[in-house]
Amino acid sequence: MALFIGLDVGECVASGAVIDGNGKILSESSLPLYEGSDLTERLSEIAESVVQGAKAVFSQICAIGVCGDDLLIDDGSLENIKNCLTNKFKVSVTLVKKWGAAALGEARFGAGKGYSDCVLLNIGEQINGGIVAGGKLFGGSLFDGGQFGHMAVERGGHVCKCGRRGCLEVYCSSAALKAYTKWAMEEYTSSDMWKSRNHNTADETTAFEYMDTDRTAKEVIEKYMKYLACGVINIANVLRPQAIIIGGKIAAQGSRITVPLKQAMQTEMYRGRQGSPVEVVCARLGERAKVLGAAAAAAEVVKGA
Ligand SMILES: [Zn+2]
Repeated sequence: MALFIGLDVGECVASGAVIDGNGKILSESSLPLYEGSDLTERLSEIAESVVQGAKAVFSQICAIGVCGDDLLIDDGSLENIKNCLTNKFKVSVTLVKKWGAAALGEARFGAGKGYSDCVLLNIGEQINGGIVAGGKLFGGSLFDGGQFGHMAVERGGHVCKCGRRGCLEVYCSSAALKAYTKWAMEEYTSSDMWKSRNHNTADETTAFEYMDTDRTAKEVIEKYMKYLACGVINIANVLRPQAIIIGGKIAAQGSRITVPLKQAMQTEMYRGRQGSPVEVVCARLGERAKVLGAAAAAAEVVKGA
């Protein structure tokens, strides 16, 4: 059976998995990364440990996909590691930018399974994403686009760290929702949110927790969703994918975010009711999407060779 390894270089942890051609994880492992960690050694250790964990041998591994942050790829750090791993394991190694990997993982094996054209919109401290077209990564594994966070949703709005004003990230990142929730709690001290919770412990889930019973919380979420819908509809209008996958911690909110997004799309999306439908779903694979997508991108490379 053909097997693949996906490796993910995170900020403080590196992880990896052996997967088969259907995206089934046969074994996985992770190791902490410290300042000055020898990344090649760490990734080699993980690769060896997952192969052993899968009770496989290296001759069964057809390709390795390594995903990492854009910066690590752009500054060449991962290119050296790629060469070392290629020499060591005598197998094709492909580098994949992490949001592309996450998008491909979700599209192939997670919330986008069954759709060939998907967009992942990942909402965290930053807003990033990836585009899968015809089952493959649009722009390839090192695509520079997918900067959905820096699409303006409020012309002349608040300034973004990129220098532009009114970016989606400024209004819809997890940090933005948290800040807006805290502001609303302090402003409306009669709200249930304020009474039942110390605003210092409020986070991006607080307003969702209280939205059914508390007017202030509901307003916070409604305003947040208004901006998020604007971003999602912009994506839908330009790319018309079969599905838009919302990733990040917010994905745990499920229908609390998908229902209002679908409603907004029905009324605001270009030919919302007549054109081809765009499904909105929440990501399912969490952090695993990246190793799965990195392995899938690597598999594509050997298949195409
Ligand atoms: Zn920006």
